[in-house]
Amino acid sequence: MTRPRTYLDWNATAPLRPQARAAMVAALDAIGNPSSVHAEGRHARRLVEDAREQVAALVGAQPGEVVFTSGATEANVWVHSRAWRRIFCAGIEHPSVLAPTEAGHTQRIALPVGRDGVVDRDALASILAARGEATGTPPGASLLSLQWGNNETGVIQPIAEAVEIAVRHGDVVVSDAVQAAGRVPLDFARSGLAYMTVSAHKLGGPKGIGALIVRSGTPMSPLLTGGGQERRLRAGTENVAAIAGFGAAADAAAREIGSYARIESLRDGLEAEVRAIEPKALIVGGGAPRLPNTSCIALPSRSAETAVVAFDLAGVAVSAGAACSSGKVAASHVLAAMGLSEPITRSAIRVSLGPTTTQEDIAAFMAAFMDITGRVARAA
Ligand code: PMP
Repeated sequence: MTRPRTYLDWNATAPLRPQARAAMVAALDAIGNPSSVHAEGRHARRLVEDAREQVAALVGAQPGEVVFTSGATEANVWVHSRAWRRIFCAGIEHPSVLAPTEAGHTQRIALPVGRDGVVDRDALASILAARGEATGTPPGASLLSLQWGNNETGVIQPIAEAVEIAVRHGDVVVSDAVQAAGRVPLDFARSGLAYMTVSAHKLGGPKGIGALIVRSGTPMSPLLTGGGQERRLRAGTENVAAIAGFGAAADAAAREIGSYARIESLRDGLEAEVRAIEPKALIVGGGAPRLPNTSCIALPSRSAETAVVAFDLAGVAVSAGAACSSGKVAASHVLAAMGLSEPITRSAIRVSLGPTTTQEDIAAFMAAFMDITGRVARAA
């Protein structure tokens, strides 16, 4: 008999929600092009616009502020590749934020991060104040990029305070809210953010679809020109089935956000057990505000890669650092940016839970954990 698998890698991607699957299957049979004026076209348009409303409702935005993209990578690269004078951001950001800031056509100014994973508010205020702006620089020339919640540690950033500081200096702010959406309440309208990015597959929608939320009135240059789709910002016939799946997943996630109290207590229970068994285990970011589903556990002297393989063999899916960078054995850039030592950056595993995670899943993880730590200890 094959052993049942335990999936604890929801930050890499979440299983497809049944509502998303049903919406996608139905949309696959919608034959019209959303730009066509006939009944078939209007039906496809309705599917796209309903989904836009559902995604907008999840993040507290207006439907007209939602631009569908091929995922959060596209949305992040799009915003960060604009002709900014400066981009202020920390090394804990996702590679899809960091890579375009390294392209060289803009000045990237690094924000320091504390060992708890939180961007230092005082340093942020003084760095934004100290730029020595040339007189006559128009407001809105520079971008502050600050993720809502981290994909590896779950640490939540002080978005409201950061926006307040940035706005005082005339900067616009973008937040990568990929890991936060559906897990903590988001209110784009009240956030003061100019842009926000989200992805469907982290909240139970399909992979390959996401959105850039652009505050109404904020300038945005088109990503793709051609047809007039997505308010002339992103030409091309819409991926109707994926968009419909995203909408259904966003709707289900919004209804279920209260269930994260249960998930948080499962996560906290897991961490308490880990610490009881392995007192040397470090819960990275454990002292900071965190997403309720994420645990980043460092077991110094045990390579994360070996641990992930051992968990996998035991039937438990977890990851070493970010899944996006798995395949290469690299220390976590997020943990390095937090100033943590190499033994920690190379040993941290990420355990991430979701709405269907059960106490039995946690028990399966703990059984594997005891086996793995015992085995490594015996071999040492
Ligand atoms: N930002 C964060 C914080 C992420 O975790 C991810 C997915 N790993 C992305 C952006 C990229 O999203 P997508 O997979 O939709 O391109």
